Amino acid sequence: MNLDVPFPSVSLSHTPTPLEKMPHLTAVMSGPEIWIKRDDCTGLAMGGNKARQLEYYVGQALQHGADILLTTGAVQSNHVRMTIAAARKMGMKVEVQLEKRVSDRLPQYYDSGNPMLMKIMGAKIHHYPVGEDEDGADNALYERAEVLKTEGATPYVIPLSGMHTPYGALGYVKAAEEILQQIAQMNLTFDAIVLASGSANTHAGLLFGLRVLGSPVRVYGMCVRRSAELQKQRVLDKTNQLASMMKVDVCVTADDVHVDDCMLQPGYGQLNDYVKEAISLTAESEGVLLDPTYTGKAMAGLLAYVRDGMWSEDQRVMFLHTGGTPALFGYPELISE
Ligand SMILES: *Cc1c(COP(=O)(O)O)cnc(C)c1O
Repeated sequence: MNLDVPFPSVSLSHTPTPLEKMPHLTAVMSGPEIWIKRDDCTGLAMGGNKARQLEYYVGQALQHGADILLTTGAVQSNHVRMTIAAARKMGMKVEVQLEKRVSDRLPQYYDSGNPMLMKIMGAKIHHYPVGEDEDGADNALYERAEVLKTEGATPYVIPLSGMHTPYGALGYVKAAEEILQQIAQMNLTFDAIVLASGSANTHAGLLFGLRVLGSPVRVYGMCVRRSAELQKQRVLDKTNQLASMMKVDVCVTADDVHVDDCMLQPGYGQLNDYVKEAISLTAESEGVLLDPTYTGKAMAGLLAYVRDGMWSEDQRVMFLHTGGTPALFGYPELISE
């Protein structure tokens, strides 16, 4: 069960993360046994899945001799917050770009939670006006990188769009190995893993890693940004890229990619009643905090599947907690309604 990932990386995360049972949530739902993989506990300025991804992006950056990291994301981006933390931990400079992706938010959305933490860590912040233009946002970063080069810096851009080489997904290829080792040690088997599917680095990396290591466990990705049709293709493109990066025969087929956009509405970073319920039910039953943009939607999808009878009581499902809790502070309406 050992997997060689032949790409440079640095150590940024506190791993292995715990894998824990959720006994009260399981009892309330009276369905399958629900477990949680605590990737919200990876460290790196309050945790989340980006810690594992950044280990490989920063590995690339250092190999290129970079001294400054550049990246882009939403105002409440966990990825941006953790990229800043990674740069600080490695003693690098960092500039970030925040996109206006979510409208009609309360003032806290713009200055509490992630944006506050970004400022505490002292990153230079640029702004990008449009939220649904990944290539445009990336191009703005590359343009800024050109300016920095003329000033003598060696920038490394961590881009957003679907077609760049998904080094970050390698962190979840490695996480697949960690999970399989952990469940073997604990003498458990799982029938499904449920996670939030955004850029698809996590979804594609985990799915690919599991299949390369011979595990058939189903992976369900809950869409948080785009339709199931678009997201399915994005996951598949990334598993194909991973196959060529790792020089293995393609081992993930279209039938093996499960995505669902049932919890996406009304859109990226926007709450709905199911998400609010999932956040409060998980907090009240287990003392586990989810987030409004990603894990709240993923858990809402998992709960909907349990209610639909997708799994029996003798089955076991794993919820991958990918982090994001600082964003809660940007959504005071979670408690005021
Ligand atoms: C970025 C993020 C995701 C989505 O992960 P991708 O690899 O982009 O698909 C899920 N949960 C949280 C909390 C995130 O910050």
